[in-house]
Amino acid sequence: EFKSVIQKLIDSPDNEHVALTNFIGNEFVKSESLMDSVNPATGKPWIKIPNGTAAEVDSAVAAAKEAFKSWKNTTVQQRSALLNKVANLIEEFNDEIAVLESRDQGKPIGLAKVMDIPRCVQNFRDFANAALYTLSTSKILEQPSEKCINYVKHDPVGVAGLISPWNLPLYLLSFKLAPALVAGNTVVCKPSEMTSVTAWVLMHAFKLVGFPSGVVNMVIGEGRSAGQRLVDHPDVHLISFTGSTLIGKKIQEDSAKMNKKVSLEMGGKNPGIVYANYRKSDIAAIARSSFLNQGEICLCTSRLFVQRPILEDFLKNYVEEAEKFTIGNPSTQVQIGAMNSKVHFEKVKKYIEIAKAEGGTILCGGVKTVLNGCEDGYFIAPTVITGLPDSSQVMTDEIFGPVVCVTPFDTAEEVIERANSTSYGLSATVWSANTDELLNTANELRAGTVWCNTWLARELSMPFGGCKQSGTGREGLHDSLHFYSDAKTVCVNL
Ligand code: NAD
Repeated sequence: EFKSVIQKLIDSPDNEHVALTNFIGNEFVKSESLMDSVNPATGKPWIKIPNGTAAEVDSAVAAAKEAFKSWKNTTVQQRSALLNKVANLIEEFNDEIAVLESRDQGKPIGLAKVMDIPRCVQNFRDFANAALYTLSTSKILEQPSEKCINYVKHDPVGVAGLISPWNLPLYLLSFKLAPALVAGNTVVCKPSEMTSVTAWVLMHAFKLVGFPSGVVNMVIGEGRSAGQRLVDHPDVHLISFTGSTLIGKKIQEDSAKMNKKVSLEMGGKNPGIVYANYRKSDIAAIARSSFLNQGEICLCTSRLFVQRPILEDFLKNYVEEAEKFTIGNPSTQVQIGAMNSKVHFEKVKKYIEIAKAEGGTILCGGVKTVLNGCEDGYFIAPTVITGLPDSSQVMTDEIFGPVVCVTPFDTAEEVIERANSTSYGLSATVWSANTDELLNTANELRAGTVWCNTWLARELSMPFGGCKQSGTGREGLHDSLHFYSDAKTVCVNL
């Protein structure tokens, strides 16, 4: 049954698009209105998706509220077992789901196969298993007058609203769903309207493995309508959001009115610092940190500070690496696919134009035409820019594409100050053969994650999140389980 759902989407004919639905109370419910979802590689619609209404969100929240009454009393073992079944089912269809993620998002199919879908599986499995052994502490209180035992019970918060972006659609949604559900919450998901397909497939998995009705719900649609209603709904007690800083801040403001629990994973303008003695063999890793997933990963490097004596040599090697990336139809074996949408494509193009107008030098990259049906797709090759001041908009705004500005620096003190000078603080990389240099720099950087001589290596139990305008709160095994629960201390006189 699961296979046929996926196959039907893979085979979705060009002239008669499959229509997705909302998922409410374990039923796939037609939405009042539909809109087109575009394949970014062709620039043409390939599927119809709901434009979820406030009333549809209300009925999803009502289903979740009702289901919470019994779901909160299930054991963590029961919840964990169900989540492991979801992980197994997704794993079984890894490659087929990767086809859909690639077509819907624009990312290379090879990347979806080895990163997005396996990471979704790992999220379900790790949270399901970790929850069995965490979240429980107790302590004896001994006083002359009495002796008590305290234990901490982690109550689920209630109905969780999960709002996710389009860059890593299934991967990031699962990073919210897994901890929310294993902690005993019921949920209403609102995936990005740009990429709802794999989330819809995932809902079939929840139903098939036997999740009770109403525990998991999803409304597909625009942020300003469906997303906003979820944030404003008085029966949604918690909002977990990953997306832009602009929307995150609005959600924080709106949620504050009802004192909702809020986790915000937002934008970045991540610096990479390359010291003169960096390991030359890391050049490919530095390029990967800049351009993987078309630069559409919140953790990608977008400002590269290179110590002056090696600037020329570094640029030569770095541009060579940038030009090695194969670019084309994401459903073939390429390393760079299409930008996610026309709007986003235009935005990235605009920043390249601003760089030119401000006197920057474009060393490689720019818009790329891809043939064989992809002529109207949204392709931009890895783009390397030099000669811009730190104050340039291109150096301070999040571009979220394959565009990197390279700039020289002289001293550690100087580069740390410059790297910290934007309003963001999500992640950073430092490249050096000298451990002291690495650690001293890492200590001074204002970022949620600093990678030294590596990038994107993630141990799930470590806290993940942003400083300053990159976020509020942390995700990760322990942090997420704490966020999705309310700790209650119970004190018993012995
Ligand atoms: P976005 O903020 O436009 O949208 C994110 C989600 O919020 C979507 O589902 C959207 O429909 C919804 N939304 C929009 N307006 C809303 C509203 N008023 N109320 C409720 N929901 C609303 O972001 P995007 O363009 O989808 O994603 C790209 C951004 O995400 C980048 O800024 C990137 O850095 C960020 N991001 C951050 C992380 C992280 O972990 N920090 C990870 C991935 C992406």
